[in-house]
This record gives sequence, C-alpha cells and structure tokens, in this order.
Amino acid sequence: MEELKKRIESHISALSQFTATPQKGTTRLTYSQEDLQARNYIKEKMKECGLAVREDGLGNIFGKLEGTVKDAPSVLVGSHFDSVPNGGSYDGPAGVVAGLEVAALFAQRNLKPKYPLEVIALIEEEGARFGGGLMGSRGMTGLLSDEDFRNLKDQDGISTEEAMVKIGLDPALPKIRDPKTMKAFLELHIEQGPILEEKEIPIGVVEAIVGLTQLDVTVAGRAGHAGTTPMDRRSDALVTAATIISQLPGLAAEEGEGTVITTGRLNVFPNGANVIPDKTVFTIDIRSGKEENVLNVIEKTKELIHSYNNEGIEITIDQPLYIQPKELSKDVRSLLKKKSDELGIPYCFINSGAGHDAMVLSDFTDVGLIFVPSKDGLSHCPEEWSDSYHLAQAVEILYETAKSLTEAEEN
Ligand SMILES: [Zn+2]
Repeated sequence: MEELKKRIESHISALSQFTATPQKGTTRLTYSQEDLQARNYIKEKMKECGLAVREDGLGNIFGKLEGTVKDAPSVLVGSHFDSVPNGGSYDGPAGVVAGLEVAALFAQRNLKPKYPLEVIALIEEEGARFGGGLMGSRGMTGLLSDEDFRNLKDQDGISTEEAMVKIGLDPALPKIRDPKTMKAFLELHIEQGPILEEKEIPIGVVEAIVGLTQLDVTVAGRAGHAGTTPMDRRSDALVTAATIISQLPGLAAEEGEGTVITTGRLNVFPNGANVIPDKTVFTIDIRSGKEENVLNVIEKTKELIHSYNNEGIEITIDQPLYIQPKELSKDVRSLLKKKSDELGIPYCFINSGAGHDAMVLSDFTDVGLIFVPSKDGLSHCPEEWSDSYHLAQAVEILYETAKSLTEAEEN
C-alpha cells in the first residue's frame, strides 16, 4: 500500500505541473500545450504498463491490455484530464491515475484477462474551453454529433479541429465507439463535497447521480408607495416570495435521503428602495438521488406556493429543467461493495450531486463510480486535496473489481 501511495502521489504531482497558471492551481484547457504535456505523460505511463495506446478523433486517450477472448468488450477505467481555470490537482487526474495504477497492478501481478482492460483519459469534461462539458464521453457515445463538435469554438474563435491539429491530434480519426465494445466503465472521482470527510469514511460507492429540477417562480403583486400604503392594503410580491423561500429548506429536510433544495436567484421589480415590489422572480433547484423524492418535493413545493395565491397575489410556476436521477449499475455496485468488504476498507453509499463522465456512459454500459474524501469539501480551486492513502485504497478496490470484471487470472 505504501508503494502504491507513493506512485499515486508522484503521478498527481507530475500532472499538476502541466498547468498554464503555475502557483495558481491547475489550468489545463483541452488541446492546449498543457493538455499535450499531460497527454504525453499519460501515454508514456500507459506504455510502461504494457498497454497499446491510441487516440480517437476527439483526442480521448485509450490504453488497452488485450484479453484472451477474441473481440471481447473492454472494461474501462479512468476519468478526464482537463481542468477548470485555476482548479485543483485531483478533479479528473485522480481517476486517470487510478486507471494507470490498476493497469500497473495488472502488469506487476502478471494478470491475463479474458476481457480487455482499457485505461481511458477523456477530454473537456469541465467544458472550460468549448463549453457544455462532458465532451469526451458525449462525443465517443455519439450524443455530441460530429457536426456539432466541429462547430464549437473557444472564446478566441478557435475551432475544436484547429485546436486539435495545433497539438498534433487527428480529428479525422473515428470518434464514436460502439457500445458493444464496452463491458463496463469504472470511475474514481474526488467527492467535491464534505460528506465522506465528516463521516471519516475513505470510500463512497455512488448509488445514483442526482436528478435535477429547476422551477422558475413569478410572484405578481401590486406596486405602491412605501410611505403612503398602509400595511393591511399591500400585495407585496417580495414579502410573499420571502415567506415561501424561507419554508423550502424544511421541505427538503422533511423528505430526507440527501434531498436538497436551493433558491439561488431572486429578482425584485421594480427594485426601488421606496417602492413596494410588484413582482419577484426566483429559482428553485431541487435535487435527489431517487426520482420519487424529487417528485415528492416538487409536488409539495407547488402546493406551498399555490397556497399563497390570493386576491392581491398571483403566482405562476414554470419548470424549465427536469433531469431524471440516474441509478448506476446494481451489479457493479454490489461488486464494489463486495471487494471493499473483502479488502476490509470502510465504505458507505452516497449520491453524486455532480454529473461526471460516468453519468453519460451509464446509458451505454454498466458503470461503477466511487468517491474519495475531499479535504474541507473543496474542489475547483488550488486548495483541492485528497489523501493519497484513500486514493490507494480506492485503487485496490478498482483493481479487484476490474480483475473480476475482466475475468483475469494470475499467472
Ligand atoms: Zn471531474
């Protein structure tokens, strides 16, 4: 474990050097010089583990250890290697490094898998250069079309293809991967939240990626002079909105199971210091791992809001966004649980509040996602940090899981 821990630290530290903002965190935009440096490092390490390396027409990197069964689908392990501007050293790279170390253990222990093992390093998950995000996984599954990919430009007007060519990548290579070539995908990611650290548990086995709903609420009241309108004659749109918003956290708490609710935007009209507001518009963001919980809270929220409709106040609700929670593969999850048990590594089940490439790939193959604690729950900043001991524990679990899924035997 000590040796594994050291190797992980050395990978993380090496990758963190490939940044456009030294001393100010990791800034590694897709198809940048830093991307090229990290890419070369990852490809080099893949080769050292005896993997056959290739890149697709998006610049995703694949390192493959062939299986003994001809044309069998691969077990993929990895994550993304781009970053947000001034981000940390772990968001993305931790998962790529985990993939490299799983492959290194396969090589070290001389495993012969029946199904191929593939370490993958994906581009542009954060969307920091071309927008949208999850581009590597959406591109390789065809959710992002070739045409849409080609039309994307960064803020300097440089297209994806121009940027690729500049670092020696070939956009003409195939982009889409037949789902039949994938048996499973395993991803390690940092939690980016405080739960595991608070519980002092090194591993979170993700059950579901939370669903997301946004409601836009418009409260219409009646404007009036702040000095001359008596209190009992007012239809104050802001007071009504505030009364509603203050009750929302209670609805999420009552629902439990990790359900969260947030009002992050509130606009007041006419927004004058001496005018009774005649209109407020605010958002409600509701997330939970189970659709049932999401739907319950939407229902209760609507009920609560409508109860404030009266003569002077008229409230309307729009629902511009509804994304179903995505439950990850039960089989892979129970395998991860079994392997953690056998290794004696403590774990708990957790939901993921963020998307990840795992979410995209879960529509095409069996996906397992595990989290390690993030110090102080921080992410997307230079202070982002995870304990390499926890990462080593995660690698052990992924190694055993990959060994089982590839039906590898020790020689
Ligand atoms: Zn990430």
